[in-house]
Amino acid sequence: MLKKAIVLIYDGLGDRPVAALGGLTPLENAKTPNFDKLAGRAECGLMHTLGRGLRPGSDTSHLAIFGYEPAKYYPGRGPIEVAGLGLKMEHGDVAFRGNFGTVDDNMVIHDRRAGRILDVAPLTQAIDGLEIDGVTLVVKPGTAHRAGVVLRGKGLSSAVTDSDPHEVGQAVWEVKPTDDSPEAKRTAELLNKFVAKTHEILDKLEFNKERQSRGELPGNFLLVRGAGQYKKFPGFKERFGFTACCVAGGGLYKGIGAFLEMDIIEVPGATALPDSDIEAKFKTALKQLDSHDFVFIHVKAADSLGEDGNPKGKAEFIAKCDKAMALFDNLPKDGLLVVTADHSTPCELKQHSADPVPVMFYGEGVRVDDVTAFGERACAKGGLGHIEGKDIMPQIQNLMGRLHLTGA
Ligand code: ZN
Repeated sequence: MLKKAIVLIYDGLGDRPVAALGGLTPLENAKTPNFDKLAGRAECGLMHTLGRGLRPGSDTSHLAIFGYEPAKYYPGRGPIEVAGLGLKMEHGDVAFRGNFGTVDDNMVIHDRRAGRILDVAPLTQAIDGLEIDGVTLVVKPGTAHRAGVVLRGKGLSSAVTDSDPHEVGQAVWEVKPTDDSPEAKRTAELLNKFVAKTHEILDKLEFNKERQSRGELPGNFLLVRGAGQYKKFPGFKERFGFTACCVAGGGLYKGIGAFLEMDIIEVPGATALPDSDIEAKFKTALKQLDSHDFVFIHVKAADSLGEDGNPKGKAEFIAKCDKAMALFDNLPKDGLLVVTADHSTPCELKQHSADPVPVMFYGEGVRVDDVTAFGERACAKGGLGHIEGKDIMPQIQNLMGRLHLTGA
C-alpha cells in the first residue's frame, strides 16, 4: 500500500505546437526516455489547474493543487513571500513584499534596488520592531534588495495601495485605502507614518553613510507592495495528516511551502534557473521520504524559457530534466510519484495560458493506462481524463486508502 508521495511540479511546462519544432510542443520535441518510461507505467491525464478557462497564476495554481481552494485561501502575494523568508505570521497581520530603494531629497526614486545591494540585514535591523499607535513593524531580510514586511496589531486591513511606484524617476506614492472601512483608512495612515519614520532612520544610518563614502547608493527607503492579510487556517499536516516538506529554488515556491507549514529544505545548487542542479533536488527529495510523508518538488526554468519565447531552450531544459528523472527508479515501493505542471506557458504567448497540462500518477496500485509518452497530446488519451488541480490531493488520499467514506 502506498504511504508516501512526491508531487513534482514543473512550472509552466505545458505549451502549444511550435512550427520551429516540427509542429511539436517543447515537451513532445525533447528527448525524454525517462519521462516516457514512467508514463508507460503510470496513469496519465490532463489537468485544468484552476478549472477550464481560468488562466492560472503560479501562486494560486499551487494552492489549488495542494487542496487549498484559492478563492478561500489565497491571501495575495505579500503573506506568501513573507512566509518564504521564515517569518511566522499571526492572525490579522498585514504582510507586504518589500524593497530597499534609494530616494533623493524630494522623495523621487533614484534606484528601486539601492544599487543592487546584496545584504539588507543592517537595514532591516535598524527598523525591525518599530511601534506606532500600538502597531508593530516587522521587517526581515530577503535575497539582495528584498525584504518581508509585516504590520502587526489590531484593526488592520489589506485594502491599501502600494508605496512602490515601480518606476525610477517617480516620487514614492502615498499609501491610500482602497475601500471605505475604518481599518483600511487606519492601515494606510499607519503605513505612511512607518514609511516616513523608516526613511528618517535609514537616511541617517551609519551603514548607509559608509556605502555613500564608497560611491554606492544608500538603501534609504522601504518600498512596499502586494498587501495581503494573513488569516490562520489549518496547515498541511493538520489538513491531510502528512508531514510535508518543500524542495524548491525559487522564493515564491518556498513561500508557498512555508505558508502551508511544510518544512523548507535548502538544496545547494538549486537556483530556479536553467543551470539549476535538478539531480541534487531529486536526490534530496527522495532522501526526505525517510522523514516526511509528502515532498513537494518545484522546478522553475521551463516557465521562464516559455516567457522568453524560447522553444528550443525549453526543449533542451526538459531533456536535461529527463536525465534526472532516472533517479525515480529509486522511488521506494510505498512511494507515489505525481508529475505535472502548474500551468502552460506557451512560447508563442510568452505568458501563462489556460491550456491544460499533462499529469501522471506513478506507483503501486494505480490503474496503468495505454499512454507511453509524457506529452500534452499523449496524456489526453490517459485514464485520468481531464481533471482539475483540486482533484490531485483526493486522488493521492484515495490511492493511499485514506479517503473518508461518503455515506455508509
Ligand atoms: Zn508557474
